[in-house]
Amino acid sequence: MPTPKCLFCNTEFQPPNLNSAYCSKAHYRLAKHDRQKMINDLTKNFRKGMYKNVKTLYKFLPEAGQVNIPLLEALKSGFDDAAFYGTYTSNGVEWHKVGSYLFTISEKENIKTLHIFKK
Ligand SMILES: [Zn+2]
Repeated sequence: MPTPKCLFCNTEFQPPNLNSAYCSKAHYRLAKHDRQKMINDLTKNFRKGMYKNVKTLYKFLPEAGQVNIPLLEALKSGFDDAAFYGTYTSNGVEWHKVGSYLFTISEKENIKTLHIFKK
């Protein structure tokens, strides 16, 4: 069996048991800390992206209702068509959810329109 390498420092070590992936408890903790930081950064960026999209959609539709906007105009205002966290299909149309908004994009004669819906 080849000598395993620590997942944190990549040095070879003699594992005290077969399940050891790290050369020491310190490196196990440091790796865990790195993973947690990665998750925290991801969460932070996710929230930032979603918040920015909700803020942009709010500019177009502050109250409950529905509005259609040329996609280009929305994109110029900071709308991000990839920042959402759920998709619902209604009558064959896919609606994406972000905050209290649902949006979908349609295309007619090469012109894309953003449809925004708020409950
Ligand atoms: Zn190590």
